[in-house]
Amino acid sequence: MSDKLDLSIVIPVFNEGENVGELYNQLNVVLSRLGKTSEIIFVDDGSIDDTLKKLKAIKDNRVKIVGFQRNYGKAAALSCGFKKSQGDFVITMDGDLQDDPKEIPRFFEKLEEYDMVSGWKSKRQDPISKTIPSKFFNALTRCITGVKIHDFNCGFKGYRNYVVKNVRLYGEFHRYIPALAHWRGYTVGEIEVEHHPRVHGKSKYGVERLFKGFLDLITVTFLNLYKKRPLHIFGGIGLLLIFSAVIINLHLVSLWLRGIRIGDRPLLMLSILITVLGAQFISLGLIGELITNSRNNDDYIIKYDSYELENSM
Ligand code: UDP
Ligand code: MG
Repeated sequence: MSDKLDLSIVIPVFNEGENVGELYNQLNVVLSRLGKTSEIIFVDDGSIDDTLKKLKAIKDNRVKIVGFQRNYGKAAALSCGFKKSQGDFVITMDGDLQDDPKEIPRFFEKLEEYDMVSGWKSKRQDPISKTIPSKFFNALTRCITGVKIHDFNCGFKGYRNYVVKNVRLYGEFHRYIPALAHWRGYTVGEIEVEHHPRVHGKSKYGVERLFKGFLDLITVTFLNLYKKRPLHIFGGIGLLLIFSAVIINLHLVSLWLRGIRIGDRPLLMLSILITVLGAQFISLGLIGELITNSRNNDDYIIKYDSYELENSM
C-alpha cells in the first residue's frame, strides 16, 4: 500500500467550506508544474459546516481526507496528518487561503539545506489585534527557546519526513514545532512567505491563544529541560528554600542565645513556612522522577546504527 512519494501536503481544516475547493485548484496547478509525486492530506478537524462534503466532492486520487468526530484542535489535526504522510518531504499549510501554494517550490529549495523550514509571514495580512501580540509572543519564544526565527506560529512549514515522525504534538504545541525539532537535534531554517487576508470564513483564534500559548511555552521548555530529571528543578528550588531557612534560623538562634525572645517574631513563621515548602518541592521532584522512570521511554533518535547495517547485509 505504501508507495513512496516525494511530497505530502498536510492541511488542517476547521469550518473552511468556502475555501477548500479553491485551495485544491491552486494546489493542483502548482503540483502539476512541480513534477513530483504527491498526496494532499486534508484533516477535517470536526467542521460543522460543509467542509467534509466539499472535500469528498474533489475527484483526485492524490487527495486523502481524514475527518475527526469533533474539533480536537490544530495540533491534533497536524499530528494525524503527520502520521499518515508518506512523502519524503512534508509541507503543512493553513486551509483558509491565507498561505499561497505558489511558495511550495521555495520550501523545497530550502529543504535541501535544512531538516525543517518555517515560513515567515513578513507582511502579515491580519488585524493589528493579532499582529502586535504575535510580535511579542515571537520575541519571548525566541528568547526562551533559543531558536532564532521570526514567526513560530506560521502554519506554512516544510519538513523532511523523519522530522514529523519524531516530534510529538498535543495540546497547542503546533506553535512550538521549530523548538521541538531544534531540541531533537534537527536544523531549522526560515523563508519569507506571502500572506493573504482571510476572505471567507472566520479566524479560529482570539486573544485567549496568548494565555494558552504562554502556558504551553512553559510546558515545552520544562519538558525539554527537565523531563529526564524532574528532581533537578524541583529539588533545586527546595534546597534553595531550605538553605534560606537555615540562614534565618541561625540568625534567630543567635538572637535567642543573647537572651532576646524569638517566639513572637514573624521571621520564625517565615522560616517554618519555607522549610515546609522546601520539603514539599523536594518530594514533588522525587514523585516526578518516579513517573519519568516508570515510563521508561527511550527518547532519542538514532541517526546511524552499525548493527542495522550488519543485519541488512
Ligand atoms: N484549524 C483547525 N482546527 C482548529 C482551529 C483551526 O484545523 O481548531 C485550522 C483552520 O481551519 C486553518 C488553520 O488551522 O486552516 C489556521 O487557523 P486560522 O486561520 O483560524 O488561524 P489564524 O490564521 O487566524 O492564526
Ligand atoms: Mg488564518
